[in-house]
Amino acid sequence: MDNSLSRKIHDMAIECGYDGCGIIPLSALEGYKERFDERLAKTPGSEMVYGKLYELLTNTQELFPWAKSIIIGTIWMGKYRYPASLQGKYAKGFFLSVDTVPESPEYKKKIRFESWMREQGIKFAGGEENAPGMLLPLRQAAVAAGLGIFRQNNFFYGPKGSYYELVGYLTDRECEYINECKVRPCPPKCGLCRKACKTHALFEPYTMHPLSCVSFWTTFGGGVVPPHLQEADFGTWICGCDACQDACPHNRHDWTVGESFYGLDELTELLEPNNIIAAPAEELRDRVIPKTAMHIPPDKVDILRICAERSMKNEAAAARQ
Ligand code: SF4
Ligand code: SF4
Repeated sequence: MDNSLSRKIHDMAIECGYDGCGIIPLSALEGYKERFDERLAKTPGSEMVYGKLYELLTNTQELFPWAKSIIIGTIWMGKYRYPASLQGKYAKGFFLSVDTVPESPEYKKKIRFESWMREQGIKFAGGEENAPGMLLPLRQAAVAAGLGIFRQNNFFYGPKGSYYELVGYLTDRECEYINECKVRPCPPKCGLCRKACKTHALFEPYTMHPLSCVSFWTTFGGGVVPPHLQEADFGTWICGCDACQDACPHNRHDWTVGESFYGLDELTELLEPNNIIAAPAEELRDRVIPKTAMHIPPDKVDILRICAERSMKNEAAAARQ
């Protein structure tokens, strides 16, 4: 184990703008397979959504024979304010991701971290955010690195809540840097996240059925409401869903304060549901799709329109009640 390199990697990650950084040996993920098997057994049909994650969790070493450890970094999104008109419609985890703004200083710092690793002769793969192209089970790695815990709503929580962007790298070095985690577990009787989940995707602690999740259906699921769910239960969400995170007392945060996120204020008008419906496909493809952090492909702008229409309908229905 190279302790001095472990410390150097950690310190450089912090210098490059990460809020936290940990390093785990690949073997640290082994314990998660059993838990994942239990979860799949409770959520029939979810293999089609979780298949890739399962493969990564169980076969990382086979997929990357040269890999010895995982570096995991956290970036807290709460330093940015989030426009009120986007609340309840667009998931903060997508629209506040610095990976959607390659020209931002924060993104450039991440690239600087990668350049530094290359200069040190460290072989690595990854760098993806928690998005479809990922190479790593990021939440599990972050928990194993002592950066936070899983809460009952299945999200990773660090010291400031769940709105963290996670970035992971497989490396060829035998390194380890485990943080002392001081995040306290959920009060056993809380359950506010489950109450906030109108589609009952969160049906028991630490268990979520992705095929009942609004976040899935408003992105990868194509915008439609499947037969077993009600249109009204999708509320005003257009892309993603933050309901179970926003209901959580550990996410109390004033989103009206903070730095403006790159270009987001300028986009709020276009993101109004009626404008999403009316906008030309090219405008949605060029200005909105990149903000979804790879959750909607560029040729699927109709997903946005379908969800915007439903959002308006549900908002009007709620106003009549
Ligand atoms: S993201 Fe929305 S639909 Fe999915 S589990 Fe959370 S509250 Fe339920
Ligand atoms: S709402 Fe309550 S039960 Fe759910 S994750 Fe937060 S603290 Fe845990």
